[in-house]
Amino acid sequence: MKHMKNFQDVSVHVPSQMWNEFSKSMLKCRRVNEEVIGFLFCRRHQVSKRKVRYIPQTWVIPTPDCYEHQSASGLVLKQHFHSYLLENHLQPGLDVVHIHTHTGQGIPGFSHVDDRYESEYARFIASSFPKKPRLISGVFDENLQSGQFRIWDRKGREFERVNFCNSLFEVSDTQNIMNNVDFMFARQQIFGSANQKALNQLKVGLIGCGGIGSIFAELLGRLGVKNWVLIDPDKLEAVNLNRMVGATQEMVEQNWHKVHYVKHLIKKIYHEGSCVKTVPTTIESESAKQEIAACDLIVVATDNHLSRKTAQELALQYMRPLVCLGTHIEVKPNNTPQMYCRVTVPPLGGGWCLMCGNIINLQRAALELAPQQINQMAVGAGYLEGVNDPAVFWLNSICASTGVGVIHGMVSGFLNVDSGIDWIYDFPGSDWRKTNTEYLLTDDCYFCGMKSVESVVENSDFETSDSVIW
Ligand SMILES: [Zn+2]
Ligand SMILES: [Zn+2]
Repeated sequence: MKHMKNFQDVSVHVPSQMWNEFSKSMLKCRRVNEEVIGFLFCRRHQVSKRKVRYIPQTWVIPTPDCYEHQSASGLVLKQHFHSYLLENHLQPGLDVVHIHTHTGQGIPGFSHVDDRYESEYARFIASSFPKKPRLISGVFDENLQSGQFRIWDRKGREFERVNFCNSLFEVSDTQNIMNNVDFMFARQQIFGSANQKALNQLKVGLIGCGGIGSIFAELLGRLGVKNWVLIDPDKLEAVNLNRMVGATQEMVEQNWHKVHYVKHLIKKIYHEGSCVKTVPTTIESESAKQEIAACDLIVVATDNHLSRKTAQELALQYMRPLVCLGTHIEVKPNNTPQMYCRVTVPPLGGGWCLMCGNIINLQRAALELAPQQINQMAVGAGYLEGVNDPAVFWLNSICASTGVGVIHGMVSGFLNVDSGIDWIYDFPGSDWRKTNTEYLLTDDCYFCGMKSVESVVENSDFETSDSVIW
């Protein structure tokens, strides 16, 4: 048994809410002094050349009657149940993450028995299914508080260490030790240097670099975010100049893309050490989608429903947290303007989303997808919000700063977004309304419908030969 050279940075990222349900369910299926098993079926996502992330699609916890044998010394699953499990949940393209517990506390080690059976199992699944799934195994203490993971090669000969993340963001502790340059953040030390480091490492994908997106980037950049992917097909126009920090008439005359203008803002904050990728297309383009999928956080600040829908789909597919920002101004019949801004963070991994929560309108998204002529007809008929949408700097700023505050809270942990948030500010009422997210929960949404699976109960007639042993 050899350790493979660590060529790649591999991680399993389970959203905290899913991990809570998963581990609760696992503990429920454990009897006193017994070990217990859980499965996550994961999709592999090559985030960058060196970084691979496994994203759970479903999870299954065998109930006690699925075991042939369950004790402190080992676990044996019924063969019938095990075949059922793999046939039903190991969809082509998914890999198996197997987690089991050892009695006691603290980070347990893999035992010789684990080595032997995991090696056999890695070979078994790789040779039994057409897409040659890989095995990632995890071992935890009896309370599922601490554990470690490893990924096996398909021959069951070697394995390498895998990182585990069950928080919103995956941030490594190895790089960027605070130095003098970070004097810039001295007045933020109260939030802790670990949080500052997390902000410095966070990679944010911003879809929409207009009136809200640009202020947002300026504010989050000043808070410490240096790594950006900027997506927007539009160029700066004179009508934008009422609400974009530092934008000039010259930039308009020189035909600047909005993404380059926002990059310019970030580069003014950081003379060195920042990394800004600009993609001057819509989010619907394949290259934009790939860049966004590799971010730690997705922020959408566009004025159309289609891009918000796409952002939500990407967030669900790659299990990235999503922050959605928008403002709206209307004039009441008595000629008083009514202004709103909205900050929405759907829960990571489903429960409700922008679509089933009716935060965006699918009909509008479909219209926006339609060819140009149809769009123009729709605009004529008043179906689409156009460039004449009213917008003011100060309202956009309330929205952008609140969005930045929410992200600060997500990174630092002082704001819990596990069940999602949807806040709407109303002016001049000057009132934040918070949607009760329990009302937004949906079971059967086409986009975010729960993909996790409760414990499976074994049905009668099973074969007892050839059990799988752990
Ligand atoms: Zn074990
Ligand atoms: Zn949904």
